[in-house]
Amino acid sequence: VFDHLEQAPEDPILGITVAYNKDPHPGKVNLGVGAYRTEEGKPLILNVVRRAEERLLADRSKNKEYLPITGLADFNKRSAMLILGSDSPAIVEKRLVTAQCLSGTGSLRVGAEFLARHYGVKLVFLPTPTWGNHFKVFMNAGLAVKTYRYYDNKTRGLDYEGMLEDIGAAPSGSVILLHACAHNPTGVDPTPQQWEGIRQAIRNRGHLPFFDSAYQGFASGSLDKDAHAVRTFVADGGECFIAQSFAKNLGLYGERVGALSIVTKSSGVATRVESQLKLVIRPMYSNPPIHGASIVALVLGDGDLFSEWTVELKGMADRIISMRHKLYDALRARGTPGDWTHILKQIGMFSFTGLNKEQVQFMTREYRIYMTLDGRISMAGLSLKTVPLLADAIHAAVTG
Ligand code: PMP
Repeated sequence: VFDHLEQAPEDPILGITVAYNKDPHPGKVNLGVGAYRTEEGKPLILNVVRRAEERLLADRSKNKEYLPITGLADFNKRSAMLILGSDSPAIVEKRLVTAQCLSGTGSLRVGAEFLARHYGVKLVFLPTPTWGNHFKVFMNAGLAVKTYRYYDNKTRGLDYEGMLEDIGAAPSGSVILLHACAHNPTGVDPTPQQWEGIRQAIRNRGHLPFFDSAYQGFASGSLDKDAHAVRTFVADGGECFIAQSFAKNLGLYGERVGALSIVTKSSGVATRVESQLKLVIRPMYSNPPIHGASIVALVLGDGDLFSEWTVELKGMADRIISMRHKLYDALRARGTPGDWTHILKQIGMFSFTGLNKEQVQFMTREYRIYMTLDGRISMAGLSLKTVPLLADAIHAAVTG
């Protein structure tokens, strides 16, 4: 009965790992997926995660019963405190609902489903460029998707004027998707002053901001600093959606732990929103998994584990920053034509190199460097050993 089906293309990001795994060459390097690697190129399980898991294992009072539809209450409370700050007016005034969802993607998707069902303006604006999956997440939920200007190829920075113009021209009440920090794929974030301008532009038009926070703590190494944009939007008393992921900052990729928070204008509305959110979630996956959320709740709730986490998080952020310097120095040493300072300036896991599709394909073919066709490289996948190869490949691609 499925004879008519055509072969679907691989996912543009996850498909890179498929191609990488097929390549038998021992010197291959995977800079496609945004997953942290140690200096030895190995995936990292944080020590605080191991400690939390040991405690969970030793605690005989724990069981594997179903969680409620919106997940582990303690996890939800602490996740909201992490992104909003514990003294946030939305928390103090009980003006928010938080639901544990399947990592960042699942949180975005549940938020999108909720909007499609209950929000009047079924139109979302995404930055150009953005994480490719954003389009499909919102379209599959039934929203129309448009874009706003974000990245300026010429300056390799933010197209602030263009962004404000597009936000101003969007139909009143549109959903505006914002990357909370460490914009993927560009690594370009607004300054605090620019965030203030963006906030005003969004509120003036009565738009609904939807934050995607996949990298809190990864951009600057500071959890509070990376939550700045979200907190300024919540401080003005307006509504806001936030999708949080613990994939990167706690290294819990495959555990699929995340949260959707919906900030409303009153606690009464929040209660009703929660009741409707449950109706959205129940027929999709009933309730979320327990293990990863229990780890996060322990780490966020225990002073000792929390402070060890902040040190480990900063360690990951610092290693990525040092890779930026190593790559920049290596390109300078080779005399590679072009201004590569954007590699130093960009924030977060990725570098948006400016290399085009043909150059990327050349680097994969000749140097076995696997990366997305838009020229994005995962700095978190680089090491002292692989920087010279990448610099050689970029040099050859640019001069060849
Ligand atoms: N949003 C952005 C911007 C991302 O980069 C990612 C991960 N690459 C996600 C959301 C979702 O990740 P996950 O579902 O693994 O939490």
